[in-house]
Amino acid sequence: MTIGEFQQAIRSIYYERDRARGVLAAYAWLNEEAGELARAIRSGDAGALTTEMSDVLAWLTTLANLLDVDLEAAASRFAQGCPKCGNTPCSCPDGAQSTLAECP
Ligand SMILES: [Zn+2]
Repeated sequence: MTIGEFQQAIRSIYYERDRARGVLAAYAWLNEEAGELARAIRSGDAGALTTEMSDVLAWLTTLANLLDVDLEAAASRFAQGCPKCGNTPCSCPDGAQSTLAECP
């Protein structure tokens, strides 16, 4: 399944209900699921990690659907390497990249 196919699946499954709830509700759900992902990381439970990552991904995708963001296009920013330095692997100095910069 591609990112675009996933986005379309989430749209087909949830769009009408998500639209009725609105963007801010979807954003709140995304943050709630991110908190559950943090707990799964701390627990080390591989099943919980998969579940919580899929929930975060689904809510992020819902937000993209509600805000008309094409996630396939968004992901393509990384297709040629780091969007800042252009290298694979990234050669930006620590802290210069936005992705996982704060990860201990
Ligand atoms: Zn870089």
